[in-house]
Amino acid sequence: MDDRQLLIRAQEAAANSYAPYCQVPKGAALLGKSGTVYVAAYVDNAAYSASICAEAAALAAAVGNGERYFSKIALAPHRLPCGSCLQSLREFGLNLQIISENENGAVSCSELENLLPMSFGPDYLKIE
Ligand SMILES: [Zn+2]
Repeated sequence: MDDRQLLIRAQEAAANSYAPYCQVPKGAALLGKSGTVYVAAYVDNAAYSASICAEAAALAAAVGNGERYFSKIALAPHRLPCGSCLQSLREFGLNLQIISENENGAVSCSELENLLPMSFGPDYLKIE
């Protein structure tokens, strides 16, 4: 699946957002190494801290379906994941590409490793 197709899936998910408070519909499409795409929408909550990021929801859906390896995640609209989602995604590897489309329609790609340098991960908790 190419970046543009993955972005379309994220945009479709964003259209299903529940965002009455933040007023910014957001979606994510996470591409597993199996080729399966896991889409999710942002879920707002009156108690703001209980809101669920689309990225976190897509990751939970993927893991719930047995997926553990990911190559790309597309986000709509254009943004980068929050710090909490970066850390959640990092659990499954540093080589994840984060795809989004800017306001001019250009597709951009960032590597998770560059967004979360010197990160804490599973290697620090290896049990021997
Ligand atoms: Zn987040």
